[in-house]
Formats: sequence, C-alpha cells, structure tokens
Amino acid sequence: MKMEVAVTIQSVRKLVKAARAEGKKIGLVPTMGALHIGHVSLIEAAAQQTDFVVVSIFVNPTQFGPSEDFKKYPRPFEADLKICGEHGVDVIFAPTPKEMYKSENLTWVNVEKLTEPLCGQFRPGHFRGVTTVCAKLFNIVSPDLAFFGQKDAQQAIVIKRMVADLNMPLKIVVYPTIREPDGLAVSSRNQYLSEQQRKDAALIYKSLQKCKEMIKAGVTDTKEIVGQMHTILNQIPSAKIEYVSIVDAETLKSIDQVAGKVLAAAAVKIGSTRLIDNILVDAG
Ligand code: AMP
Repeated sequence: MKMEVAVTIQSVRKLVKAARAEGKKIGLVPTMGALHIGHVSLIEAAAQQTDFVVVSIFVNPTQFGPSEDFKKYPRPFEADLKICGEHGVDVIFAPTPKEMYKSENLTWVNVEKLTEPLCGQFRPGHFRGVTTVCAKLFNIVSPDLAFFGQKDAQQAIVIKRMVADLNMPLKIVVYPTIREPDGLAVSSRNQYLSEQQRKDAALIYKSLQKCKEMIKAGVTDTKEIVGQMHTILNQIPSAKIEYVSIVDAETLKSIDQVAGKVLAAAAVKIGSTRLIDNILVDAG
C-alpha cells in the first residue's frame, strides 16, 4: 500500500476506519518529527506488532515552555517522509497546530504526582501538554497499540498511568533507548550541539554507567552514587546540571537507599541544549 500523508483529523480518521474495517490492528508512533534511528526502532516495532502503522509528526506547542525551543525545533519534513516510506509506515499524520488546537484549549489532562519530580521540576506545564496531546492523538487515531521510547522514561510512565486511570482502550508499549556508538542517547536535539559539546555529551551516559557499576558493586547510598555522577558531569565545561536523580522505577519517588528496580536519570544543559537520559537498574 502507498503511504498516505494526512494533515486533517478527518482524513486520518477515514484512513484508520478503512483499515479497521479490513480487520487490521492499528499501531501509533507519536513523534515530533526530525526522525532518527530511535524513532525508526519504534516504527519497526509497530510494523512487527500491528498491521497498520500511523506515525504522527507534530511539534506540540503546548508542551514547550515560553523560553524553550518550540520555534527552532527542527522540522525536516521531506527527510521524515523518506524515512517513513522506507520503514513500512501506512499513514503519516502531520497536522498543523491550528488543526490540533482549533480554538483556545480549555480542557487538559493532568497526571498528578508522577509529573512532579525529575523533568516536572524544571519544565512546568510540560507533561500537561504531553498528556493532553497524546489523549487527543489516541482519540483521533484510536490505536490498539501506541509505541514510546524509554529515552523519555518519565513520559512513558506518565502516559501509561493516564491510559490506566482514564480507561483508554489501548496498550502502551515502551522500547529501549537507542544510542550513538559512544553511548549518547540519540535525540533530535543532538544536532544543536557543537563538535566539542557533542563529544562532551557522551559523559551523560558515562555518568549513568558509573551509577550502574556502583550499584552492581553493592553501593546502596544514593547520595554517594549521585556525588560520583556529578563528578563525571562536571567535566563538561559548559554544562548546567538540572538534576541527577535515583528514584523508584515505578513511583519515581526519590530514595536514600538503592533497592529493587531503580531509575537513574539526568537532565543536563550543554550550552543552551537540554539533554536527558536515564537507565533502569535492577539492584535485586
Ligand atoms: P520525540 O520526537 O522526541 O517526541 O520522540 C518521539 C518518541 O520517540 C518518544 O516516545 C521518544 O521516547 C522516542 N525516542 C526518542 N529518542 C529515542 C531514542 N534514542 N531511543 C528510543 N526512543 C526514542
């Protein structure tokens, strides 16, 4: 089947309806475009697990703060089309902000508690924008499965909780973070980095690896581990560390002593580029 590009809600609904009438299982991969191998891993998973893959490309204004990079966020639409075409996507849903937000938005989805720590402290309103746009996308596309990356660990947990709390009839599947050879998590924002900053950025993953090593060696005091992670991150000259945290992998509550499944997560601004990364560690 030829890949379709739908820019209106009506047209994507029509295409999904026809696929469903043929008994097809619908998969959705929500993205903001500037597609890379991380997105491709989700598209491939969707193509394996469903019969009809919709990729949404929408730089969602409501999840950006006033001083964030909404305007300069990369929008290489032609390259994105090519990538989707090469990976078995059936429909690209690429609405304009006007199409998604027809008038002033008065209805918001807000997941409590889970949105407060980590990125929630530094990006007020961000998760409210994410959950609202995902709820809208789920209502528009009505997928059976929606695919998210572990790269945005807090986002995946928050979306899962929204789906459970609001009884949305779909399953959220989360796939591992895809990394560059030096460990840096692939991100659309990596292209903002200068050559030197790009090299330095590998230290973020190094700090997470250090955390894992320490846990595996039996260290349980999170303060001690976070201290070592800071030491590594402080080697980046232009870095401003927003947070380095070790939290319970399910509740995202901070912990003093490592036990069970934990999430180590960091957000670092290198120059003006904000990068996030995380790893899951099972301390047993
Ligand atoms: P974005 O376009 O950045 O909003 O990301 C769209 C989806 O791709 C989200 O579910 C992200 O978690 C996921 N994603 C982004 N980068 C990666 C990566 N390096 N590995 C795996 N998934 C990713």
